[in-house]
Amino acid sequence: MKILVVGSGAREHALARHLALAGADLVIAPGNPGTAACGENRAVEANDPAAVAALATEIAADLVVVGPEAPLVAGVADAVRAAGIPVFGPDAAAAQLEGSKAFAKDVMAAAEVPTALAHVCTTIAEVAAALDAFGAPHVVKDDGLAAGKGVVVTDDRAAALAHAAECLNKASRPGVVNQVVVEEFLDGPEVSLFCLSDGTDVVALAPAQDFKRIHDGDAGPNTGGMGAYTPLAWAPDDLTAEVLERVARPTIAELARRGTPFVGLLYCGLALTSRGLRVIEFNARFGDPETQVVLARLATPLDVALHAAATGDLAALGDLRWHDDAAVTVVLATPGYPESARTGGVITGVEDAEAVDGAWVLHAGTARDGEGRLVAAGGRVLSVVGTGRPSRRRARWPTTPSAASRSRAVRCAPTSRCGPSVARSR
Ligand code: ATP
Repeated sequence: MKILVVGSGAREHALARHLALAGADLVIAPGNPGTAACGENRAVEANDPAAVAALATEIAADLVVVGPEAPLVAGVADAVRAAGIPVFGPDAAAAQLEGSKAFAKDVMAAAEVPTALAHVCTTIAEVAAALDAFGAPHVVKDDGLAAGKGVVVTDDRAAALAHAAECLNKASRPGVVNQVVVEEFLDGPEVSLFCLSDGTDVVALAPAQDFKRIHDGDAGPNTGGMGAYTPLAWAPDDLTAEVLERVARPTIAELARRGTPFVGLLYCGLALTSRGLRVIEFNARFGDPETQVVLARLATPLDVALHAAATGDLAALGDLRWHDDAAVTVVLATPGYPESARTGGVITGVEDAEAVDGAWVLHAGTARDGEGRLVAAGGRVLSVVGTGRPSRRRARWPTTPSAASRSRAVRCAPTSRCGPSVARSR
């Protein structure tokens, strides 16, 4: 099968790696030095719908797999579908499930999906009233895409207001009013569950847990994600069935009812609270870094599964098969991430890591310099994946940081005192 993978991060390297292992013939646009080992990288702008559709047509792709959210929100899947090529990824209208948190809340309300109570605010006065209505800890979210950095959770009312003001006052597109979503605080461990959807049917992958804060101990500011693991030995046995029943299927049905069927990956970000399951967020694509570990355990050929979703054929796919091994990934980031990224450092040791049994290295922000050396070119640089037999120790229900430590975490800048992020680049 000829497949075009759109994107350039570690998630796309994971997708490319597993599609190539399944025997697919790959082109990656634009890709990175890691994906170059899985297929042919083509320097096409991922967010340009016409350019991606033209490339898919040129290579006679059987399937296009869109990795990141920005191309989906920009209408890349619409353009590829219009060119008559199956695409794994929702149209721009359905991708609003991720592109606007207010839209996602509206869909969840209509579909009776359990989620945090929320107020959508357009003025700082509304934000202040909503903060007081919910009380601390405060949760303030930028309505639009912010690469994992638009959310602040804090006990500090002034910090919550300051974040809201920043979101409301930022430059916006003409005709678009900036919004923030103020939510009630959800306690309990978080779980990510990926669901394949063909617009009607839904198939769940394996639950994973990711870690969004920059430092060890779940401390520091939020990032795009610093690590993940699967399976979750502590999670309830019926978790996947419950999410399918109460979250994924009603959401897919509601989008179909609105005339905007969702074809692609419905990422359910969940909190298992003391009051039961709640949706924290939806994403319209595979999560990074959970993809790196979930795909490591998938035994069903990935090309077959994604093609079935893209062509309305999930009902015929049958049950997915899984390896028994556990998988964990740790992200290596440049010093200064997430506030800034010190790029250009030379990366060494990738071959040594891959020489370890059951381990491999996925590239994100990497590039080749003029001498052909691998150098850091972004905030998150590498995702190192390890697989092996799961521990036999009884898994405990994970504890979440207290409100006070979350508040400290938000204020804790990534200085050396807090512990800098690991960087293999120099
Ligand atoms: P962005 O919008 O910046 O791209 P995101 O879409 O990843 O970020 P969310 O997943 O909604 O944003 O929130 C990021 C993190 O903030 C969550 O993983 C969770 O740890 C925390 N969080 C979000 N909402 C709540 C909530 N209501 N209660 C407690 N913690 C929350």
